[in-house]
Amino acid sequence: MIKKVKQQKKEMVRTPKGMHDLLPTDVAYYEKIYEKARLISEFYGFSPIETPHVENTDLFIRPLGEATDVVEKEMYSFKSKGGDMLTLRPEGTAPVMRAYYEHGMQSWPQPVKLYYNGSFFRHERPQRGRTREFRQFGAEIIGEQDPIIDAILIKIAYLILKEIGFPNVLIHINSLGDRDCRGQYKKELLAFSKKKFNYLCKDCKRRVKDNPLRLLDCKDTACVEIRAQAPQPIAYLCNNCKAHLKGVLEYLDEGEIPYTIDHHLVRGFDYYGRTVFEIFLEEDEAGALEEVKEGENKIVSAVQLAVGGGGRYDELMTLLGGKSVPAAGFAFGLERIVHEMKAHEIATSKIKQSPKVFLVQIGAAAKRRSFKLVEELRKGGVSVGESLSRDNLRSQLSIAAKLGAHFSLILGQKEAMGDTIIVRNMIEGSQETVMQKNLIDFLKNQSKKKK
Ligand code: AMP
Repeated sequence: MIKKVKQQKKEMVRTPKGMHDLLPTDVAYYEKIYEKARLISEFYGFSPIETPHVENTDLFIRPLGEATDVVEKEMYSFKSKGGDMLTLRPEGTAPVMRAYYEHGMQSWPQPVKLYYNGSFFRHERPQRGRTREFRQFGAEIIGEQDPIIDAILIKIAYLILKEIGFPNVLIHINSLGDRDCRGQYKKELLAFSKKKFNYLCKDCKRRVKDNPLRLLDCKDTACVEIRAQAPQPIAYLCNNCKAHLKGVLEYLDEGEIPYTIDHHLVRGFDYYGRTVFEIFLEEDEAGALEEVKEGENKIVSAVQLAVGGGGRYDELMTLLGGKSVPAAGFAFGLERIVHEMKAHEIATSKIKQSPKVFLVQIGAAAKRRSFKLVEELRKGGVSVGESLSRDNLRSQLSIAAKLGAHFSLILGQKEAMGDTIIVRNMIEGSQETVMQKNLIDFLKNQSKKKK
């Protein structure tokens, strides 16, 4: 008896939840952002740095803060085969500060200006503007506490977005004060939170004692409403912190960079002190409620999405266990910028241009010769299209026509043997035979004639 084997229908493996492929047309958007960001940063004296995608988990726990969403719930952490606790980097500032210390950059001329670009990972609930792998471009200035540093960073972030083509770029800015005045403010905020305790979300009820500031960046709708009545950190700034904020704002005025003081702005990590800022592309009604679809469920999100954010983090190095070093920086979320570029119909410059020359080959000898000829043309500076895997003349000519090639180079058996090639002008319908050794000059002359 023949045993019938039931064929199991296999499901094709897909990308993990919250992670996406970037197809060629998407990559063109990311490259446009990166090119602008790189050129402007390098003009302002920044150099590139790349840190590993995986770091020791401890690098993030203390600096970001144990009572933050990222550390509590969103880190991709695992034990390595050697028993080390490692984490896929959720952000770029702590790794850059680790690198600054590890490579003795304190002995370089200060401040040290570094930029980075790459993927970061947070196990967030995927929804509009939040993915589990996302790309950031970030810039950091380490070793200087002058308020002009904060203003330079804001200016660079502003310029990059303006030059990408966004008409409205708005900076929300606030000051959290230094450790002392922030301590005073936190006490007041804790007292306020205790009064509102019953209305807080589950996370805030649990975290408010460890770090009441987290209430201010909680995304829960009820907490966002409570935040509007909370005390404001600017009211608790000491004289030095007040002067620092005033300095930053004066430079922004000088640079005609539009900003608004956002009295309840804090950032998601504990290492920030003094200046904090976020960057928006349109001024929606702040805190407007927005319905977001996730699968079949509608989620109400109470936050307007920033495309970037940053601030001063003078205390980060001490949180890492080193000697205090003043520093500030920002990071853009590239996914959100790409989303907005598409919404604003901002084109990418790198739409691939089809080559104006197409090589057609017929017969085994011609195919063999073409294998080398394509490389000779590349070295000679002629961009050439080909379909070397095809043998049929008609199908190759139709690809050339589809690509809008001006010239087809036709190499048959006879031409391959005689070191010649037929150059067909696809627009005029004329053709002539050229020696292969003269082909590059011939094509260059033709393109000069067209100009
Ligand atoms: P942060 O590192 O949290 O200061 O965020 C800086 C910027 O990165 C944000 O303004 C966002 O544009 C972007 N970003 C942060 N988390 C995500 C995420 N899960 N998905 C997409 N973009 C993100």
